[in-house]
Amino acid sequence: MESSRPVAASDTYPTVHQEVARLASLPEVRAAFDRFRSQESQFALWQMEATRVAAPPFGEGARGAWLAERFRDLGLNDVHVDEVGNVFGIRPGYGNRFVALSAHIDTVFPAATPLNIRQQGSRLYGPGVSDNGAGIAAMLAVASVLGRARISHASPFVFIGNVGEEGEGDLRGMRHVFATPRWRDAIAYSVVVDGAGADTVVAEALGSRRFEVIVRGPGGHSWTDFGTPNPIIALARAIDVLSQTPVPASPKTTFNVGVIRGGTSVNSIPESASMRVDLRSTSTAEIDRLERALRLALEEGVASENGAAALQKTRKPQVVQSEIVEIGNRPAGELSADARLLKVIRAVDAQLGNTAQVQRASTDANIPLSLGREAIAIGGGGSGGGAHTLQEWFDCNGRELGLRRILLTMLALSGVGE
Ligand SMILES: [Zn+2]
Repeated sequence: MESSRPVAASDTYPTVHQEVARLASLPEVRAAFDRFRSQESQFALWQMEATRVAAPPFGEGARGAWLAERFRDLGLNDVHVDEVGNVFGIRPGYGNRFVALSAHIDTVFPAATPLNIRQQGSRLYGPGVSDNGAGIAAMLAVASVLGRARISHASPFVFIGNVGEEGEGDLRGMRHVFATPRWRDAIAYSVVVDGAGADTVVAEALGSRRFEVIVRGPGGHSWTDFGTPNPIIALARAIDVLSQTPVPASPKTTFNVGVIRGGTSVNSIPESASMRVDLRSTSTAEIDRLERALRLALEEGVASENGAAALQKTRKPQVVQSEIVEIGNRPAGELSADARLLKVIRAVDAQLGNTAQVQRASTDANIPLSLGREAIAIGGGGSGGGAHTLQEWFDCNGRELGLRRILLTMLALSGVGE
């Protein structure tokens, strides 16, 4: 998950609340809750085992194979890996619209990162142990207790270990799931488990679009070729224009120039310069508007640098040219205030005495939300910290609450008879 900030949560809904209370009191559901406590050491083992298998961006195959084995061991049906590496397992129901429970299996860590995963008391340490070892463990824990319970739910469940959530993965795994005819319209609800905790509900998808902007020119000697248009100056002019673009406070919209590169030496007119730009909003229309502003700013920066160079009367007309390459695109979207999924998770939290804030963030839920489907991202319970660093940790205390929350949500979405 990427950065987030809390927004207001509101009241709960009586009928859904009654249904959740009924489910929580069923003997089989209570037995499943108990297993979440008694099986904790197994969940921690799975979490460490999963995290010890390297899963860098675009290199999730080995971890996917490990997960497919666990899905088979747990008795899920139709366990398979798709063309991009997403792992699927099904628990059948009566209907044909699925409730999906997914966890991304990729990490931010390059293949050579030492994966020293260890346990001290209730704490697990090592890169990826929480993000998303906690999500993978939660998915396995839920599949595991359901495998032993006699709970017949109406909608079938599909468990998905998906690739490509982090960074340049750009949500490619989830994107592929929702581009596949078999799943595109068959998934009615998506519950994404990302990281630790039980105190948030991501119901708003923060969209982002990222660009590499490159300006190229003939280059030359700073003294003898003076007057040749300068890519760094063209870029600087473009940044100056972009920086003056107004953005609304609501929907919150931001832009950033995060990386700038270019040039070879102090006495050379550079042959190229580049920058990386990040545009974000909860509104796709605002991101579109910012993209147009970026393109106009670049045209203006290049034109004014070329114009300035022309005034220097160089021997032959020389110009800089620009190129914009999209390097990331996470679509925006949000769950409508009357979405069933939002009512269910609020009722579940009320039932469990859990306090959670609705947040906006960039997660796998962006993809279904951008398509107008119901989706949320929540944590796998316990607590964690140091995500995306080698000092990452996860504390198993309180995992049980997160697991109960996930199970009850799925059962309420699916429908369970008397
Ligand atoms: Zn994550």
